[in-house]
Amino acid sequence: MRREAKFFVPGPTWVRPEIYEAMMQPMIGHRSREFRELFARITPRLRELFRTSQNAFLATASGTGLMEGALQNTVSRAVLVTTCGAFSERWLKIAHKQGLEADQLETEWGEPVDPVKLADHLHQRRHHYDAVTITHNETSTGVINDVAALAAAVRSVSEDTLILVDSVSALGCAPMLMDEWGIDVCLASVQKGLALPPGLTVFAVSERAIEVAEKKHYKGTYFNFLDFKRTADEGSVPFTPAIPLVYALDVQLDAIMQEGLEARWERHRQMRDLVLERTAAYAEPASSKEALSPSVSALLPIRITSADLLAGMRDRGYTLGGGYGKWKENTFRIGHMGDIQLGDLAAMLDVLEEVAGK
Ligand code: PLP
Repeated sequence: MRREAKFFVPGPTWVRPEIYEAMMQPMIGHRSREFRELFARITPRLRELFRTSQNAFLATASGTGLMEGALQNTVSRAVLVTTCGAFSERWLKIAHKQGLEADQLETEWGEPVDPVKLADHLHQRRHHYDAVTITHNETSTGVINDVAALAAAVRSVSEDTLILVDSVSALGCAPMLMDEWGIDVCLASVQKGLALPPGLTVFAVSERAIEVAEKKHYKGTYFNFLDFKRTADEGSVPFTPAIPLVYALDVQLDAIMQEGLEARWERHRQMRDLVLERTAAYAEPASSKEALSPSVSALLPIRITSADLLAGMRDRGYTLGGGYGKWKENTFRIGHMGDIQLGDLAAMLDVLEEVAGK
């Protein structure tokens, strides 16, 4: 199994061999004592990961499933979607498909959402929003949003509007202080900052959001938060989970807590800075320098096309991310998240420099 990290896609990310080994443990039933023990080890560390004392759950689904679930459980009528790229816009598509009244607070791609504009929009609103959606880290543009400030902006205007956060490419890479910031639902699929193979999403739900869900008539079947809460109290999950991935999550949470969340956030900041410094001669950040993500960099190459850079890297055994959505042609992306270390990144950047012909 390959120990060397040569896969720099912004999710799914490179997976350590120890994780695959953990997945090969014998099968158990999800109503067994063994599973309850596994689940009991995982839940408190998930709470730590989200920095919450409230509910922490896991579901067998990718993150988009929980985006749908979050809206289904908490929004009866109207939601405000803050957008600044392709993934934040996904909330809008889901909300429309659910027949919700969805307003968009649109920010140009490459810029972070402005908390002042958010507060202004809420002040001028014609009606009350059940929830506001925030995308912690916009993976398409490599922008990190200031969730603390955005949540404070919501709270400054409305006490009972719920705050739903997609932290898919930020959890484990950047601070997420769910309780301190007053977040109601926070979700992250595990194939990004948690560096597991895809297939699970971890999510945390405030008591307030549970109370709202209790009053909602239809919450769907698969992502009904009340079922997650009831079965979690019994030490399990509502439906058959991807048990090998649950084994992997157990092992990975150990490693994350051993590294320490603060140390992990700092490692990601250093990886962002290293990319910025080492690519400056042949590429520039595609997004605002004030909000560059610690987990993914979207770059505009200067004298070479993105396609040629990616092909050159592929010939040398490296996979980088292409541009996303309307930035597909012009940009390329480097995922530097999860278990990628500074040394892995530096070695890749040596090769990238050669391909760029610097
Ligand atoms: N949100 C963000 C910020 C993402 O980066 C992604 C995937 O790249 C998603 C949501 C969708 O997650 P998933 O592919 O796990 O459904």
